[in-house]
Amino acid sequence: RAKGEGRKRYHVYEASSKYDHVENFIHELELSNAIERGELELQYQSIYSPVLQKITGVEALLRWNHADAGSVSPGDFIPVAEATGLIIPIGYWVIRQACRDWHKFKETFGNEFKVAVNISKVQLNEHDFIDQIFKILESERVSPHVIVLEITESTVIHNLQAVQETLRKLRKEGFTISLDDFGTGYSSLSMLTLLPIDNLKIDRSFIQDMNQALVSSVLVMATALNLKVIVEGVEDINQFKILEAMNCWGLQGYFISKPVEQSLVPVNFAASVH
Ligand code: C2E
Ligand code: MG
Ligand code: MG
Ligand code: MG
Repeated sequence: RAKGEGRKRYHVYEASSKYDHVENFIHELELSNAIERGELELQYQSIYSPVLQKITGVEALLRWNHADAGSVSPGDFIPVAEATGLIIPIGYWVIRQACRDWHKFKETFGNEFKVAVNISKVQLNEHDFIDQIFKILESERVSPHVIVLEITESTVIHNLQAVQETLRKLRKEGFTISLDDFGTGYSSLSMLTLLPIDNLKIDRSFIQDMNQALVSSVLVMATALNLKVIVEGVEDINQFKILEAMNCWGLQGYFISKPVEQSLVPVNFAASVH
């Protein structure tokens, strides 16, 4: 095929859709059938609290096991799902599956164990999101007290008043709210005081170069605002020890556990590092 043809094809899709890649167009067609085909899967990554010295919960991370492409990462298909609205049914599938798996976690980790799910801005802006999530929890016999909803700064920024209102209602019903990827967006510190949230998840880019001054100032601020800080992307023992000594409430990352299927979530985090 001529070079120009490829380029032209690309431009046709680019002009006619919100997508960055031709691949996304193909994803859209197949993603719409992923639930029925049973191609979606949740993996879980442990969150360890050095303060409580135990694994307090997990974060559910979505995987799409595509027949040909193999495991497609959420970074590749969540944007497509958001642009097409497919994130709505997929998001409800995630919540229901997380509830079902919670009953299994409870057997090993007890009733207080929490499962966190990522919520897209598209979901949060659905007018009946709160009703729907309640219906799911009710039918799966799971209390909001064990469910954490992770939202990102970008969710909040465009729609502050509406999001404030939704989050307030959800918290009143017992949900825990985490602000995810903190430090990657544009939100000002004053924004934090306006948000009805419980936890702050510091993005792993903060930790990569182990900016201790930055982390400790976020910790001071979070403490003043009564927020628990969870640090993402803890990959090695040095990072772990520093963050543990800084009294971060929660740590998450490959050093503690990679995301794994429900039955493989480690029961203990080996304290052999001490
Ligand atoms: P996130 O919520 O910030 O999740 C953390 C991401 O960092 C995950 O990537 C996780 O596998 C990865 N990670 C965890 N520990 C480490 C580490 O020590 N080192 C490194 N390099 N990476 C680590 P993943 O699973 O590819 O998910 C990417 C993003 O996709 C998530 O970021 C989240 O924003 C989104 N996502 C995942 N599942 C869902 C979902 O069910 N619904 C929605 N709306 N978004 C989801
Ligand atoms: Mg998250
Ligand atoms: Mg994050
Ligand atoms: Mg992230």
